[in-house]
Amino acid sequence: MKKIYMDYGATTPVDKEVVKEMEPYFNQVYGNPSSFHSFGREAKNAITEARDKVAQLIGADIVKEMIFTSGGTEADNYAIKGVASALEEQGKHIITSSIEHHAVLHTCEYLEKERGFEVTYLPVDEDGFVNPQDVKDAICEDTILITIMLANNEMGTIQPIAEIGEIAKTAGVTFHTDAVQAVGTIPVDVNQLNVDLLSLSAHKFNGPKGVGALYVRKGTKIKKFLHGGAQERNRRATTENVPAIVGLGKAAELARKNLNRKREELIILRDKLINGIEEKIDHVKLNGHRTERLPGNVNFSIRYIEGESILMKLDLEGIAASSGSACTSGSLDPSHVLLAMGLSHEIAHGSLRLTLGKYNTEEEVDKVLELLPKIVADLRAMSPIYNQ
Ligand code: PLP
Repeated sequence: MKKIYMDYGATTPVDKEVVKEMEPYFNQVYGNPSSFHSFGREAKNAITEARDKVAQLIGADIVKEMIFTSGGTEADNYAIKGVASALEEQGKHIITSSIEHHAVLHTCEYLEKERGFEVTYLPVDEDGFVNPQDVKDAICEDTILITIMLANNEMGTIQPIAEIGEIAKTAGVTFHTDAVQAVGTIPVDVNQLNVDLLSLSAHKFNGPKGVGALYVRKGTKIKKFLHGGAQERNRRATTENVPAIVGLGKAAELARKNLNRKREELIILRDKLINGIEEKIDHVKLNGHRTERLPGNVNFSIRYIEGESILMKLDLEGIAASSGSACTSGSLDPSHVLLAMGLSHEIAHGSLRLTLGKYNTEEEVDKVLELLPKIVADLRAMSPIYNQ
């Protein structure tokens, strides 16, 4: 059986070119980048080159604005806790949205519960959009940080970040965006978006797992996250993961080169999948905005059945999908994102996320469109609440 991977939102395969680029950094160029000798210098140069490539991908003009991290989660934690610690004398109010990834939500909750911060969790509309006016209205004298994601990992809606960034700038409030799902899949430019901080993660765009970066605009007040050595310009201690950083750099270079072509191809596949599901299966609801969504994201609520049972049947057919984000699948709670968009518990439970990426083909989409209606029909036939 030929397996089909449609869970690119959870993670992506590492490109062969990326693996090739990383290989020498395990046992040929193995010096510690902080070492004075030529072995160390070679490793340091590789990091500088990677930093430059990542900066180019997101339009950062000063490469020193980029701090490598262990992934998106650390970048989010660093941004939020780092700014909160730097500015807590000035105010203790943070604005975020109710549909953020747990890396942001749980960090905000920690600040609330353990450190006396006050957090406003903004609502979203039925398409999953944050209203910029709500952001404006929520800003008060105590507000020190706004953190709103660029694109949602579950239902793909892309937020009006540039507009929110403009509001933050005018109010003089530091603005962070979690762009983990967006970087490498849609054009991202830190200046156009008016952001001060931005999180990204290599494994979402065909780079290795366990490495990411936090963009920090020059002049942004932020406290260091890891204490120890003087790596990353004294902002993040620990010996750098050189092969992973080199891999992130190469993935960024490839993403930048192929971004527009790949995005257009993915949108065609995505829309074929969306239209096909709507044509072939009744009682379905597309979650997220129809066009202002990530190029590879398809998320449906399928009534009268549970997301988990569809996933199991798909898995038996060799098709990998998910029912929400990878981090929340495994829990039986319905997605906080879909609930925030106004879906009932019952409908939110029946959600299916198919996320397409670089290596998906039209044949694979056709295969899913052939199998999924049968799976849904079989499950509904067994459902006591379905009678049509
Ligand atoms: N933020 C978003 C929007 C994500 O989708 C993810 C991962 O799924 C993360 C943060 C966490 O990234 P990482 O897995 O690199 O820690």
